[in-house]
Amino acid sequence: MIKCGIEKINSRGTLFVFDDLDGLPTTVYLINGPRHVFVVDTFLGPESMEPVLAHMAEHCPGKPVVVFNTHYHWDHVWGNCAFPGAAIVSHSLTRAKIAEVGAKELEAYGKYRQGRVELVLPGLTYGSRLCFEDDGVEFFHTPGHTEDSSSCYDRVDGVLLAGDNVELPLPYLYWDKLGRYLETLEGYLKLGASRVIAGHHPLVTGDIIGGNMEYLGDFGSGKAEKHRVGEGRDTHARNMAVLERLGNSG
Ligand SMILES: [Zn+2]
Repeated sequence: MIKCGIEKINSRGTLFVFDDLDGLPTTVYLINGPRHVFVVDTFLGPESMEPVLAHMAEHCPGKPVVVFNTHYHWDHVWGNCAFPGAAIVSHSLTRAKIAEVGAKELEAYGKYRQGRVELVLPGLTYGSRLCFEDDGVEFFHTPGHTEDSSSCYDRVDGVLLAGDNVELPLPYLYWDKLGRYLETLEGYLKLGASRVIAGHHPLVTGDIIGGNMEYLGDFGSGKAEKHRVGEGRDTHARNMAVLERLGNSG
């Protein structure tokens, strides 16, 4: 079976951390609510979901499953097919983007797949927010890393799942509305979560969010140049290329 770290979080969360993506940690989060069990992101395929399924079989057998995709990127959605019968939830843009580029991404990054990946599109979508009131779990649109990026908040445990909107040292940009991205990160700080977990970072601090905000702010104040050197220079160079491409495409 695929190896991953498993950590119990607060009263009802379980954090799975995988290291198989070229050493980049990737998280999957499970919330065991009273009515549903929620799985946030599904990593690289059905084999990578085996530890999650084993955990569910032991701790919440037979409970209806809700799978949530934070955004359309391949390393967050390939395991959707491991949950037959689950409601798969995302922002409407996420579904549209998986439909548009999913097959291409599967071909381009196929060497990373774990098990037989069949693309499964989210079947339940929302525009700004979707709440499972009786479970105390909400999903909401938080554009930034990508236009479709969404987050999950566990109101009972105060745990925020931020997808790829927060990264260390710098965020990866796939969308050029940086002012809107900043608003998303400000909203995270206002939420006052007891724990923030990102798609590739299991323990996000306020300082990490603050550092990401500073970086985004540097574009607005003409100071982005300074990131050409230092720890985040490769990410910054890549971001500049993406922004240029987006700018040129109108
Ligand atoms: Zn991503």
